[in-house]
Amino acid sequence: MGALIIVIGLYLSILFFPYPWFPHHFEHAGFSVYSDDEIPADFEAILDDARRRMEAMELDRGDPPVRIFYCQSQRLFAFIVKAAGKRHVGQGLLISVAGNAFFSKSIIEVIGDRNRGRPKHTRLRGSVSAAIAHEVAHHLVFTEMGFEKARRIPAWKAEGYADYSANLAAIEADPDYDLRTRVDLLLDDGAWRSTTGSVDRRHFRWQLMVEYLSLVEGLGFADLMHEDVTEARTYAELMKWYSTSTEEIR
Ligand SMILES: [Zn+2]
Repeated sequence: MGALIIVIGLYLSILFFPYPWFPHHFEHAGFSVYSDDEIPADFEAILDDARRRMEAMELDRGDPPVRIFYCQSQRLFAFIVKAAGKRHVGQGLLISVAGNAFFSKSIIEVIGDRNRGRPKHTRLRGSVSAAIAHEVAHHLVFTEMGFEKARRIPAWKAEGYADYSANLAAIEADPDYDLRTRVDLLLDDGAWRSTTGSVDRRHFRWQLMVEYLSLVEGLGFADLMHEDVTEARTYAELMKWYSTSTEEIR
């Protein structure tokens, strides 16, 4: 029993005290970055971009963001995902209570290479700064609502809101942003077929639903999180707006 507790403790320590596995450290733009290997030279620009994305978020109060643990070894990242008890392996992993966020260099790169930058302003582009901003957004929601409430947010809303928040700065800076064109793309089956099967467009749909609620309907965070704002109703409203309205939105 004692031995088991020690093994579990060792497992969990990597989530709460990962420093021994991440000896390379630097600070920039208010972020603390730790890595298992030499930190790449382009990381300053990545953090500047992550900072811009963070500052555009409604919930940003200027508090220090999560600590960034950048895994260049995929085995290390896989171990951390396992230690956290997650079955789904994504680009990043947030341990909000510890204030730690872990990122996989290779998963982000594979996604970027596969989708070649499309669609714009989404997680499918495989951008390190957007992945950082995504976990920062989740962390701000946890801080704002508290753990118990935040973990009850349905997946479409939690992920849609994090992707929307992470990409809002880029959307606002893009004169060609157009939600209707994005819905065109969502509904275009051919655009989602790839040589290796089909690309999962669920997260893109969730993000567009939150873009609609925020940018068209003008809902702020508190209204958006209201339980009356359901997935089915939001999707129906988005489709109705898409098929009837011709007004320009910005
Ligand atoms: Zn997420």
